[in-house]
Amino acid sequence: MQRQHYIGNAWVAGRGGQRLPVVDPSDGTVVGELARGDAADVDAAVAAARAAIGEDFGGPWGAMSAAQRSRLLYRFGAEVAGREREIADLEALDTGKSLRTARADAAALARYLEYYAGAADKLHGETLPYDRGYTVLTLREPHGVTGHIIPWNYPIQIFGRTVVGALAAGNACVVKPAEDASLSVLRLAEIAAEVGLPAGAINVVTGYGDEAGAALCAHPGIDHLSFTGSSATGRLVAQAAALRHCPVTLELGGKSPQLLFDDADLDSALPVLVGAIVQNAGQTCSAGSRLLVQRSIYEQVLERLAGRFDALCAGPPALDLDMGPLISRRQLERVRGFVARAEADGLRVAARGRVHEQADPAGYYQQAVLLRDVPHEHEIAQQEVFGPVLAAMPFDDEADALRLANGTDFGLVAGVWTRDGARQIRLARKLRCGQVFVNDFGAGGGVELPFGGVKASGFGREKGFEALRGFTVLKTIAIRHG
Ligand code: NAD
Repeated sequence: MQRQHYIGNAWVAGRGGQRLPVVDPSDGTVVGELARGDAADVDAAVAAARAAIGEDFGGPWGAMSAAQRSRLLYRFGAEVAGREREIADLEALDTGKSLRTARADAAALARYLEYYAGAADKLHGETLPYDRGYTVLTLREPHGVTGHIIPWNYPIQIFGRTVVGALAAGNACVVKPAEDASLSVLRLAEIAAEVGLPAGAINVVTGYGDEAGAALCAHPGIDHLSFTGSSATGRLVAQAAALRHCPVTLELGGKSPQLLFDDADLDSALPVLVGAIVQNAGQTCSAGSRLLVQRSIYEQVLERLAGRFDALCAGPPALDLDMGPLISRRQLERVRGFVARAEADGLRVAARGRVHEQADPAGYYQQAVLLRDVPHEHEIAQQEVFGPVLAAMPFDDEADALRLANGTDFGLVAGVWTRDGARQIRLARKLRCGQVFVNDFGAGGGVELPFGGVKASGFGREKGFEALRGFTVLKTIAIRHG
């Protein structure tokens, strides 16, 4: 599999001629090569996007009506739905995720396309009450050219929630997928061209973050940046954007807590608690990676959870087990480092899953790990591991639970498990994060539900109609007519 950049609806060789390997995480073999983009490639992609928008929005994409964009996005969505299998197979090969997960991701992308196609012609400004001698109205205009930096954990879903939203709002996009997983995003750009999106509406430059990614952040032709990834890189992206006053949306990591009270329905909670940390082998920004359990049920819950963790199995995507491999050797070593340091510090492993006997020893497999009695200050309770590692700890009462839940640098998602309605509302209001789920976690993905964080989890919102507001600039027009 040899891939070039995809710029202006065509495959384009990198200006510098450098390449980088595509590695299959299930066995560590090199299965292809990508172009290793640099500033010159980013420049070409931005030029293609600017031409699609055109001077004064007169280009082939910029001049389109919202209804025309909507029709094209519906067509794109139908094509993705029809090719769900092909897209999922590519995603599973590139990321190592199970086929089941990859198919769910492809179905979610089709749904993003359907949702944002439907929303494109319903995004509008308002008229505002003001002095009687004026008529004041607001327009929602596209930024122009938006830059999108995508991580490796959910390439096609994140394409759906950032690139598709930006297109629906009328922007042309330059996308830098992750060096560890670029194949599906390249294929999506190609499909978009096949269904009729004009040249330059979607451009993809592959390569490393500190080369192609940094060049995208610094490019004066980018009018808005959308970044999903680690908090550390998010800071670099925001700094680069600040230097040229470019608006930015950051969707960063999390250390999301699940608060389990003694009146919760454990039969419905336990499978969700496990799924929330092993989904995508724990490589999910909103993973429920901290479990806070009321002390009166702590031993009972740990015992039942341990049984479930013992049964978890990681293996190749085609076997469709609980988890596939992690994305890379680097990520595997990072996760193993967290677990090894926790054990060296005397933390107790309550349960450990297994790796399937058919898994290639050269693949990047990590067993699920349940750690108990984790001190709140320990790094495994404070930092994003991005692997299938659940840190459990007891709490005494509601105030204690809230203190622990809010006591990290992050604030992305929280789960509250209780039958007490007043407590549900109290906690939902006091938890410092972007999403709260009550007696559930994740709510099936929720294309319609605004998503994003506070604190080190970032700012700005993706998903839902709210995302479209971020991909537009609000202009106020005041007309004095007396
Ligand atoms: P990362 O944040 O470095 O990479 C994400 C994306 O940013 C990639 O496309 C990368 O090429 C790009 N990038 C890297 N440096 C850049 C720079 N200087 N300028 C512009 N773009 C740049 O993440 P990683 O190194 O692949 O993973 C490290 C950790 O980040 C993980 O262990 C995990 O904790 C976290 N992470 C979080 C998410 C998330 O969805 N919140 C996704 C991926 C990784």
